[in-house]
Amino acid sequence: MDLQTAEQKISELRNLLNQYGYEYYVLDQPSVPDAEYDRLMNELLELEEKFPELKTTDSPSERVGGKVLDVFEKVEHRTPMLSLGNAFGEQDLKDFDRRIRQAVGDDFSYVCELKIDGLAVSLRYENGLFIQGATRGDGTIGEDITANLKTIKSIPLRLREDVSIEVRGEAYMPKKSFETLNKAREERGEDLFANPRNAAAGSLRQLDPKIAASRNLDVFLYGIGNAEDLNVASHSEGLDYLDTLGFKTNKERRKCNTITEVIEFVNSWVEKRPHLPYEIDGIVIKVDKYEHQAELGFTAKSPRWAIAYKFPAEEVVTTLLDIELSVGRTGVVTPTAMLKPVKVAGTTVQRASLHNEDLIREKDIKIGDQVVVKKAGDIIPEVVNVLAELRTGNEIDFQMPTHCPECESELVRLEGEVALRCINPKCPAQIREGLIHFVSRDAMNIDGLGEKVISQLFAEKLISDVADIYKLTREQLLALERMGEKSVSNLLNAIEISKRNSLEKLLFGLGIRHVGAKAAKTLAQQFGSMDKLAEATRDDLISINEIGDKMADSIVAFFEQEEALELIKELTAAGVNMLYKGAKPVSVEESDSIFAGKTVVLTGKLEQLSRNEAKEKIEALGGNVSGSVSKKTHLVIAGEDAGSKLTKAQELGIEIWDEEKLLAELNK
Ligand code: NAD
Repeated sequence: MDLQTAEQKISELRNLLNQYGYEYYVLDQPSVPDAEYDRLMNELLELEEKFPELKTTDSPSERVGGKVLDVFEKVEHRTPMLSLGNAFGEQDLKDFDRRIRQAVGDDFSYVCELKIDGLAVSLRYENGLFIQGATRGDGTIGEDITANLKTIKSIPLRLREDVSIEVRGEAYMPKKSFETLNKAREERGEDLFANPRNAAAGSLRQLDPKIAASRNLDVFLYGIGNAEDLNVASHSEGLDYLDTLGFKTNKERRKCNTITEVIEFVNSWVEKRPHLPYEIDGIVIKVDKYEHQAELGFTAKSPRWAIAYKFPAEEVVTTLLDIELSVGRTGVVTPTAMLKPVKVAGTTVQRASLHNEDLIREKDIKIGDQVVVKKAGDIIPEVVNVLAELRTGNEIDFQMPTHCPECESELVRLEGEVALRCINPKCPAQIREGLIHFVSRDAMNIDGLGEKVISQLFAEKLISDVADIYKLTREQLLALERMGEKSVSNLLNAIEISKRNSLEKLLFGLGIRHVGAKAAKTLAQQFGSMDKLAEATRDDLISINEIGDKMADSIVAFFEQEEALELIKELTAAGVNMLYKGAKPVSVEESDSIFAGKTVVLTGKLEQLSRNEAKEKIEALGGNVSGSVSKKTHLVIAGEDAGSKLTKAQELGIEIWDEEKLLAELNK
């Protein structure tokens, strides 16, 4: 890049960052995700490093925080309240460690703390009495928000010792308070806060302390501004001292001797983080001893002895390149956003379901838009909103088709549904998706028959229904693209093995409307064979717990179809098992086991049993094994390396067993 282009780019970046900074720090209403701000800031830092002649003192890269509002009295901090340098991955942490070692040698330790996502405050006490509280402001001058801070009940108004001390910490809004607040605002038709951080900042920068008082804020203290006046030698001692004075500090801190331990701590929080009652956006790593901190010193913006590791972004900005349509197994036509590939919460995302036309209208999504993407529940990518201010005018409106993109029959909107459906039972897309479902893991679980191979076989007209899978020959498979002797043998073997599956797998695989994996299991257990189920009346079906009207109707309708009965005949002829092979369910009354009627969750790695074996044994004794921990869980079995489920169980006070105890009970 030449100097002139760099100058132009730098100016653009500064303008954007100034605008975003103003919205974030002054208005407490950010318009882009933090990751987008961080990305632009990194770009600016890199350019300024490459072209030092373009550095200016008023660049956003040189500034801490935002402007101080005139409505509050100004407070000059005795020692500046700085920002923190950022680390975005392991390499950044290792580089940080190297810099520290170069400066202070090898004999030192770190303290790792959660990076609470709130706003920094400073609290001043004279002879043990709280006299003034301030925001960080621009680092040098903050705003006097004493009255508002006094409404936070965990801030002591008098300390347990008569010391004069300036403490620093993070005021934040717990997730629960944030949800309640936004819900109430929604009901009143007011603007919603983007996240708990902005809600906390907005609450503390109100002139009327009653508003702050109503917002249920809290605080964690993490530092001392005038440590040199006190008898403490390290950050960790300082935190312990704050505890003895009656301050609330965060207990999830750890002293680490090596950067490897630091990385372990950081990684352990990636998983545990969603279960905290407050938001964190990273881990702060500080060199422990004050003497070492003094040796390392500060840059203009941040201390050299600390760094903030930021978790992989959960919300990022990318371009929506196109909207594609797919027809599912049940005929629903779903629009999917094709995105410019981007990392979200650690993995690359390039598609996100847009669900239906209404949602596209509601969010005003156009092809070519810059969109904010996040992972809902940290798994499924979702388009959160459009950044309409970044439109160039070249974006294109999206129209849902009137006809099936695959078979061209007219699409319908069933009553009470938002989805458009293709109702042609011969629609090739639906048949193909049905085949893919049949071989999937929870259904017949045929290894080697993935989406690609099924699509190929279907396109070559080698299979048109699920019974055809059992008629495939070695020659036919060898003729397919990328299929060698070995994979064909494996595949034929997997198909053969699938014939022995217990009935519920086949039932689920047939894709009867409304019959999920769990219902299939119940049906298989209750009826024992396909024949018996086929004969069942609607009344027989709804007399079973868990089987409702809709499902019963759908099962009866399925077995009334000639084609369905024909298919089952063909499958039987091919040798596919039609019987339930699992343990007979034991009713709660019959069982005298400790598991009877209890909801049990398995987590972590078990040594002696597979999870499935444990599940079957517990179920055979009348227990119910569930996948997630909730208030309704009675018991959690935790194996090696149990993670978030164990943490949640501990929080909820649920009984927890190890594998040994489980085996002892099972063997009774
Ligand atoms: P920072 O958030 O990167 O880190 C410094 C802050 O961390 C401290 O001031 C303190 O408030 C906080 N902190 C929390 N726990 C701590 C602990 N245990 N020890 C020490 N400090 C702790 O820096 P910043 O200057 O406050 O904010 C910059 C960040 O704000 C950016 O990286 C960006 O993510 C976000 N931002 C976003 C926008 C936007 O438009 N979305 C705009 C401006 C800034």
